[in-house]
This record gives sequence, C-alpha cells and structure tokens, in this order.
Amino acid sequence: YINKFPLYFVTYSTRQTLSTVQKDHHVIHWFRRDLRLHDNKALHFALESGTPVKCIFIFDRNILDNLPEEDRRITFIHRQLSRIKEQLQAYESDLEIYHGEPIDIWKSLAETHGLKEVYTNRDYEPYAIQRDKDVDAILNKKKIPLHTFKDHLIFEKKEILTQQETPYKVFTPYCRAWKESLDADPENIQYNKHLIPYPLNLKGRLLKIKDPQAMPSLKSMGFAEAKIHHYPTDLRNTDMSDYDKMRNLPAKDGTSRLGTALRFGTISIRETMKMAIKTNETFWNELIWREFFSQILYNFPHVVNEPFHKKYANIAWRNNEEEFERWCQGETGYALVDAGMRELNKTGFMHNRVRMVTASFLVKDLLIDWRWGEAYFAEKLMDYELASNNGNWQWAAGCGTDAAPYFRIFNPESQQKKFDPESIYIKKWVKEWDTEDYTAPIVDHKKARQRCLKAYKAVV
Ligand code: FAD
Repeated sequence: YINKFPLYFVTYSTRQTLSTVQKDHHVIHWFRRDLRLHDNKALHFALESGTPVKCIFIFDRNILDNLPEEDRRITFIHRQLSRIKEQLQAYESDLEIYHGEPIDIWKSLAETHGLKEVYTNRDYEPYAIQRDKDVDAILNKKKIPLHTFKDHLIFEKKEILTQQETPYKVFTPYCRAWKESLDADPENIQYNKHLIPYPLNLKGRLLKIKDPQAMPSLKSMGFAEAKIHHYPTDLRNTDMSDYDKMRNLPAKDGTSRLGTALRFGTISIRETMKMAIKTNETFWNELIWREFFSQILYNFPHVVNEPFHKKYANIAWRNNEEEFERWCQGETGYALVDAGMRELNKTGFMHNRVRMVTASFLVKDLLIDWRWGEAYFAEKLMDYELASNNGNWQWAAGCGTDAAPYFRIFNPESQQKKFDPESIYIKKWVKEWDTEDYTAPIVDHKKARQRCLKAYKAVV
C-alpha cells in the first residue's frame, strides 16, 4: 500500500462526517522531518480523511543512542515539538511523544482499538525506507493502511529522468529538466500546481484527548539542553534578493541559514521554493542541488559507504589520526580552515564556501578519507542531511557525481584572500591569527598538492 495512495481520491466532504464516526475511531499523523502544522501534506490528508486525527512523534532510539548528551539537533527538535504540542492542545488534542524503537512502538500502536489509517510524509534515507517498510508490514497485518506523501521535496525519486529514463548524474542537465518539469511562470508562481500549499483545517478534526501528556523532558531521554545559536524556523526575515552577490563571503550574513529549517521541516519546501523563484535564481538553483543529491542517494544508495565512482575506492589514504584531530579542532595553521572548523564546533553551522575549503583540505592536503570528514560533519552540523552531506563530500573528494575534477585542489590561502579579503571572518574565529601564538601550518600546501595528485593518479 505504501506510496500508492490516490491523492485526490478521498476528501472530507465525500466521506462520513465526524459525527457519524464511531467513538474510538481515529487515524494517526506521524511527524518525522516535517515539524510544522501549516502546508503539511500528510497532515492535510489525514485531516481530510473524515476520521479524527491523533498526532504522534517518535524519538528513535536507534538514532538517539548514538548521539552525545548535548546535541543541538535534539534540543532543536524538542523545542519545535513543544510548540506543536501547544498548538494541538489549544484544540483539546495533543501531540503524543514516544521514545523507543519505532518498530516496537508501532507494534503496540497497531493494537490500539479504533486505529484506521496512518499518514506520514516520505523520508528517502536508506534507514528510513527500511523502517517504513517494516512499519507498513506491521500495520498491514492489522489491515491498517500506511499512506505516505511527498512533502520534503518538489520532485522525488525518479520523477526527473533523462530521455533514456535513467537518473541524472550531472547537475546542470538535471537542473534544466527540473525547471522544465516545474514549468514555472515567475509572475504567476503562486498558481503553479507543484507549489500550491496544502491548507490546514484543524477545527473539529483532531482526536479529542482529555488528559494531554506533559512534554517529556530532554533529561528523561538521557539528554541535556544544548546551546542553540540562532536558526530561522520560518521565512519571515529571509530576503534573498542579493544572494548571488553575497553568498560566497563568509564574513557576511549573505546566505539564508534555512538548512536546519528545511532539514526538520519547520518550513515547507513549497513556500521556500516559491520565494526563491521570485527573488533570486542562484538561490533557487541551490534548492535544486538539494533535490539533486536526494535523488542521487535514492537511486544510487551505494554512495552511503562508497565513492560514486568506484575507481576512487582504492586511493592510498594516509589517515593520520593526529592530523585528523587537528583538523577537527581547527588547529591546522591554515586560517580559513581553522576558522571554519571552530565555527562548526561552536555553533553547528559552517558557511558553504568554507565547508568546501575545509573538506578539500582534509581530503586533498591531508589525504584523509573523505568518510572521516563526512562523519565529523554529520555529528556537528545542525543542518546535517545525509544526501547533501554525502554528495558534497564526494564532490570535494572528486569521487562523486558531477564532482570537481580531482586535480582541482583549493589553495586555502588564496581562497581566504579572495573570499575574506579583510580577514573579518578569520579574525572572528581565530583570535590568535597573525600572532606568534598561532600554530605553524600542518603541511606545506604545495608539497601536499603534489602528494595528493600522485595518490589520485595512481587510481585513475
Ligand atoms: P543557502 O546558501 O542559503 O542555501 C539554501 C538551501 O539550499 C540550503 O539550506 C540547502 O538546503 C540548499 N543547498 C545549498 N547549497 C547546497 C548544496 N551544495 N548541496 C545541497 N543543498 C544545498 N547542506 C545540507 O543541507 N546538509 C549537509 O549536511 C551539508 N553538508 C555539506 C558538506 C560539505 C562538505 C559541503 C561543501 C556542503 C554541504 N552542504 C550541506 C551544502 C551547503 O553548504 C549548505 O546547505 C549550506 O551551507 C547551508 O547554509 P544556508 O542554509 O545558509 O544555505
């Protein structure tokens, strides 16, 4: 049943009204990476089903058990859920929150008397795909359909294919085909069928819950409150009209910082895309990169553990642990690299230009396996997204789809001169820069470059 729900088949008006529904009958909306009520496709269709809706969220122990006690993302999710809970309680309903293994929780939810259907938005990561298959099997035994919806992306899976019906491996033609499929008229963008928001009508459609649960504390799940730096959770103060001019300058606040909101779905991709199309084409293209890497991960799941191009699997990495540690801590003696790593460690964010330079430095200058860097970013980034992180790391390592050719190696010093010419960004994060206290460079870039070329040439 999964993925096959006929979207416009059932509407509220064509089905039974709530007053005719049996007392304990209900459907569930399962929140995952869609932590908002407005323009939420699965929630919209759950509310249209004609059966009262119960909302739930599961803190997944399979994921949580591998996280440190202070994890910014868990704090962020917790805050967002508290907001949603309050909003639902205002309608005499609730957001039920579970902490455990999704499979166990669904085994018990499937036994709940009166549960008729489950609604949720799709997640494209291999772990999530398997989890949803397992949940579907559990529900299936009880004849409870699981309806899944596309909400995280404008085009998913195999919706954008080449003329040979194969997935794109190169961004530029993908981007062109994506735009053709959208068929957007920027003047009338609000009427574009792919971008129309899904209305929210909660009144009288939620399951009444007499004794709403208190929000479980972070502590009860083994976490402590982490300090979160500011991340926009909506589009209110986002003006991207100068994005193309400002986006490469880490000292300026010239990018949207919406990665976290997109990752956790506190904003909808439809509203974000609409804003991008209206304001700035470069910004629009960046959002298409996000969809590009999502379809790469979906169609080529081997990228999770291996290079997209298999010939790069045999590079003789040096993998020096001490050097890796210095990179993690921002102690390489290359100011732009160190500034970026310190920004990441302190805030959970790093500017895109600096992500490219730090990644290149780890892989090319230090000859450390890109997967080590990928894992470190995955642990630290607020906007961590498997598809984008993996795709960009492979891009930096020159082994991915559409990757930078391996022989194009960023020079961290000239990158700094070009993109932080007044050293504002590096002075902010590396206070001791330009003093005797600053550490000596970990490698000589010129020599490291030659060493890297040799290692890559040996496998291509
Ligand atoms: P903006 O520049 O304002 O862009 C808007 C949105 O477009 C972003 O929030 C993101 O959703 C999307 N986007 C922009 N650039 C890219 C890109 N190159 N690839 C995919 N999507 C993009 N992005 C992530 O969302 N999660 C990651 O885990 C991640 N890891 C990265 C690792 C490396 C080594 C590199 C080089 C880039 C990575 N990126 C990742 C892409 C990019 O750096 C971030 O999306 C961006 O810096 C987030 O800041 P922003 O929201 O201000 O972006």
